[in-house]
Amino acid sequence: MSRQPVVIVGSGLAGYTVAREFRKLDAETPVLILSVDHGGFYSKPMLSNALATGKSPESILNADAVKMAEQLKITIRPHSRVMAIERSSNTLVLQDGEKLSYSQLVLALGADPIRLPLEGDGTEAILSVNDLDDYRRFRDALAGKKEVVILGAGLIGCEFANDLAIAGYRVHVIDISTWPLGRFLPQAGGAFLQSRLEAAGVVFHLGTSTQRVERVDERLHLTLASGETMETDIVLSAVGLRPRIALAEAAGIGVNRGIMVERSLQTQDADIYALGDCAEVAGRVLPFVMPIMHAARALAATLAGTPTLARYPAMPVLVKTPACPTIVSPPDAGAKGEWKTEEDKDGVKALFQDVEGNLLGYALLGAATKEKNALAAQLPPVME
Ligand SMILES: Cc1cc2nc3c(=O)[nH]c(=O)nc-3n(C[C@H](O)[C@H](O)[C@H](O)COP(=O)(O)OP(=O)(O)OC[C@H]3O[C@@H](n4cnc5c(N)ncnc54)[C@H](O)[C@@H]3O)c2cc1C
Repeated sequence: MSRQPVVIVGSGLAGYTVAREFRKLDAETPVLILSVDHGGFYSKPMLSNALATGKSPESILNADAVKMAEQLKITIRPHSRVMAIERSSNTLVLQDGEKLSYSQLVLALGADPIRLPLEGDGTEAILSVNDLDDYRRFRDALAGKKEVVILGAGLIGCEFANDLAIAGYRVHVIDISTWPLGRFLPQAGGAFLQSRLEAAGVVFHLGTSTQRVERVDERLHLTLASGETMETDIVLSAVGLRPRIALAEAAGIGVNRGIMVERSLQTQDADIYALGDCAEVAGRVLPFVMPIMHAARALAATLAGTPTLARYPAMPVLVKTPACPTIVSPPDAGAKGEWKTEEDKDGVKALFQDVEGNLLGYALLGAATKEKNALAAQLPPVME
């Protein structure tokens, strides 16, 4: 009797890393990856520094779906959207009505860019970049243009701002918060990053938000809540991501911010797992590369027959802003403590400590980044 495959929905870092790790442990069980997109493998973090590193969208792709299938000895079906999960029969329903069975199902669906509810006839023209196809559209739009407005001064917004400035674009960044990377940095760190990016040519409009975007011939006209107006060639939205939960929710699987899983990465259905940007692991959404690598290794072992819990050490994130080297390891949302900051003209060292002086998080900028390893060793694990 032929075995039903392990089916992975999603060909991003999460889906592919599970497949690769699983193959190291089990060479026989069929594995099928289904993906809405082209199914090729690429490094998503490269999208926000590709101009500076001289990469085109084509050169960012490491291997297409055919090569990946050969390499991992799995089956990949690109351009295949999963529309529904029929849990009672362990079956998936595709867009064209085709049904596929699974023995174990892995949801590695990623997240959708958040779209701000803006007024005006130019909102349709706002771009966002969350995958290689988006990036191709963005690069096509940039051709022959000079000015870009970025909505959002978070991690992705700041990285794109720096990258575009290096490539010679005039860049404006708008954010409601009063300093960039507001979720990760205390005020002094944000001010330092802002001044370095400004020196690289980026113009910030902080403490305000965008209200309207209108088309004026080939250009876009923005009106901010502050009353300020500006014109630009391109608007790039980078205001955050929302885990893709609809498929799981419709199948009656528990969802909160993400698809809810325990540290086993199992949903409430014993045959269905989730990881990556779509998942909420023991209450936490961790949409970064390192947590995905740790989760994928644990899940591969579980799928291969050895139940394994995901363990996460401290996982500082390197912010790709060459104008201001920055490394952050934010404290837990509910952590009790305060930021202690040392700063000079070359950098900022901000340590988030509890009353006993234990290090719970840090933000290092400029010259202070040289302390990253020594300090990382003092950080508590994210999940032990
Ligand atoms: C510009 C940018 C820069 C970044 N830089 C960094 C960085 O420097 N460091 C870091 O740690 N992290 C970084 N990140 C975050 C990191 O890249 C992501 O956390 C990670 O790539 C997410 O992988 P994923 O597999 O969970 O999701 P995705 O890569 O989004 O993959 C989701 C997959 O699911 C498929 N899919 C969705 N729905 C369906 C469906 N119904 N049926 C079939 N297929 C479906 C999609 O087609 C896609 O293949 C960055 C992110 C961006 C956008």
